[in-house]
Amino acid sequence: MVSDGETIAKGEWYPPHSSGAVPARLLSRGGRLFAVNEEKLALSDGTVRQVSFTPRVGSIPRRAVFADGSVFESMDNDAIDAFLRSGGRSGWVHRLEEFHPRIFVFAIAVVLLAIGIYRYALPVLVKVAVFVTPPVVSEMMSYGALNTLDTTVLSSSSVAEVRQAEITDRFRQVAANAEGGAGRYTLNFRDGGMIGPNAFALPDGNIVITDQLLELARDDNEMIAAVLAHELGHVEYKHSLRQLYRAAGVAGLVMLIAGDIGSGVEDILTQGGGLLALSYSRGAEAEADRRSVELMRKAGMDPVAIARFFDVLEARLGDHSRTSMLSTHPGTPERKEAILEYNKTLQPD
Ligand SMILES: [Zn+2]
Repeated sequence: MVSDGETIAKGEWYPPHSSGAVPARLLSRGGRLFAVNEEKLALSDGTVRQVSFTPRVGSIPRRAVFADGSVFESMDNDAIDAFLRSGGRSGWVHRLEEFHPRIFVFAIAVVLLAIGIYRYALPVLVKVAVFVTPPVVSEMMSYGALNTLDTTVLSSSSVAEVRQAEITDRFRQVAANAEGGAGRYTLNFRDGGMIGPNAFALPDGNIVITDQLLELARDDNEMIAAVLAHELGHVEYKHSLRQLYRAAGVAGLVMLIAGDIGSGVEDILTQGGGLLALSYSRGAEAEADRRSVELMRKAGMDPVAIARFFDVLEARLGDHSRTSMLSTHPGTPERKEAILEYNKTLQPD
């Protein structure tokens, strides 16, 4: 017996492959449809989706066909239409009732997929994107970034040309052993303005060093060379590209790899502020530190001069300077220790 069902329409019920009609009603309850006889005994039943209704054609009786082939027929077209419109096969409430377990499983699957994408797909996508990025894109990004910085925070350097030449000379010696040779990299001097003592690398091999950093280093040009060697390491390992792509996220990377750069991604890629706001991971910093040791050693300069730089930063800036290199290049005693240790493992050339 089917109790408490909502009567949709009255009509007649035909068993499968039979023309023997039985007076019946069509009921709906809990996302299921029932054809019941006058004793409220179920003659046919099925979920709302399993029952197909014939379309309304004039005043021809409507038929609800159950999965077993049995048919409920009714002249009450308006009632059936009302049911189909309000809570029938397209009604989400009924589907929700009907597929509750499925929705639950689906929700869990979505959460797991999101975690999976974040943990496994994103790093892979970043690698692919870095790999497929043509040099011209790096150049465009870098050009855009430096342009933005030049019109906002940076201004032209007021460091004496003699000193600039001296530092550029050391920079070339260090870059000579970097990937692509000295010709692939350009050193740019700028007044750092708001960003103060800083040095950063753009993906195309342009490296910027601020007057304030030179001031901080006083006359220790060898230490400056070590900092620049560290930045060369960031370029070689494509750290800034990686960081940018991580910021672009999975959706952005998929579009990028597919060759369709959305405006949001484009903004991230060409805004200089974005480049500067990125701080590298500890792993990236350690890589760049080790590269500084190698390049300085090959250039015949003090391999661990970069370690002196951390002392200088801490002694002269303190930890409070948030816009300084300390925030984008966190310097810790462990880092200094690692640099000295790494140098010990390298055999003298
Ligand atoms: Zn760094």
